[in-house]
Amino acid sequence: MWIIRYAEIGLKGANRPFFEKALERDIRRRLANCGAPAVTRTHGRLWIADEPAYREQVRSALQLLPGVQSFSLAHRVANDMATMKKRGLEIFREAFDGETPTRFRVTTRRADKRYPMQSAEVSRELGAHLFQNSPEGLLSVNLANPELNLHVEIHADFAAMHLVIERGTGGLPVGTAGKVMCLLSGGIDSPVAAWQMIRRGCKVHYVFFENRTFLGRGAFDKVERLAKHLSQFQGRTTLTTVPFSDIQVAIRDQCEPRHRVVLYRRFMYRIAARIMRYHRCLGMVTGENIGQVASQTLENLRAVDVTVNACVYRPLLSMDKVDIIAIARQIGTFETSIEEAPDCCSVFLPKHPATRARVHELEADETHLDVETLENEAILNAECMKLGTNGAPSEKGR
Ligand code: ATP
Ligand code: MG
Repeated sequence: MWIIRYAEIGLKGANRPFFEKALERDIRRRLANCGAPAVTRTHGRLWIADEPAYREQVRSALQLLPGVQSFSLAHRVANDMATMKKRGLEIFREAFDGETPTRFRVTTRRADKRYPMQSAEVSRELGAHLFQNSPEGLLSVNLANPELNLHVEIHADFAAMHLVIERGTGGLPVGTAGKVMCLLSGGIDSPVAAWQMIRRGCKVHYVFFENRTFLGRGAFDKVERLAKHLSQFQGRTTLTTVPFSDIQVAIRDQCEPRHRVVLYRRFMYRIAARIMRYHRCLGMVTGENIGQVASQTLENLRAVDVTVNACVYRPLLSMDKVDIIAIARQIGTFETSIEEAPDCCSVFLPKHPATRARVHELEADETHLDVETLENEAILNAECMKLGTNGAPSEKGR
């Protein structure tokens, strides 16, 4: 069986059952395609039946399941001393080659405190048994820095034994924090930003601005695949595609070239904030990062931020690109993100974009445009796609 441990949600006091149920629900959803194993919840842990055919699939799902601190594939055995000794030795011998000097220990935890022996006594007796039944001189007990650590968890009617503890992603179960709207481009950053919010318990919806007239549908194809990929971590979600060509043409024709990118971004923010409210989301998410490109200086971030009365979350704000890329690889979005397909922000790029745009100058520039009509038109022509739990589009609508 698999033992699943959650750490942080254990601290939530009276809300604990709410978090535990959410985690249990999410595990069932994630493992529906892995033979839908039975899931039970006892003693501050979740337990899943092991099905060897699905073992690797279950392992990869657990590695990226928000709320899971660590997990182990364990042997379920009878909790009497004779059985634990016999099985403990078998498990130990599988890992111990019998030829290399090895430091070891036994770590016991009693979930059932009525068990007749203390945890330390169980460890001592099991440890002595392993020691006596192994080639002489090769095993040494080392409590602080063991190479092999046999973990024993004693419950009322069974014991779980395992050597390895695998790390989960931590965070909080999906949906426990509320909904947010992520501005998703096909780049490396925004999918990682979405994941960071999912990891902290948010349900993330997506909005994508598309310049189909000048760039075709290549970027949309990427974004759709990215949103579907992300939906496996969080269940049902939506992807709203907003036509952006007319707005970009208007900005190109009426405004200062050096303001273009920041003005694009101001329109994106205002439109996204309206779509965010429509979906009853509590904030917006972007992949912005200080100083990464000209449009992401502190001045330009502020010039965009002031356009909306909404919380804008930027989980990558202070991260380095190498670390962002490492996460993109881990969650499996990197390969898609680096496919060649230009984003609308690269359309009509001036030679010298403003790196320190002033809000009053941008506002003056926008008086040359019919901002309201442009935004209303874009929203009227937006398309919302529902993404199912398994990532399949279930419905499309305006
Ligand atoms: P990314 O890798 O996420 O595209 P980036 O480093 O390329 O980010 P920008 O192109 O300046 O940076 O975009 C900054 C953020 O603005 C993106 O992370 C994303 O949240 C949002 N954004 C940019 N272009 C679009 C778009 N076409 N549709 C939706 N959001 C966008
Ligand atoms: Mg980009």
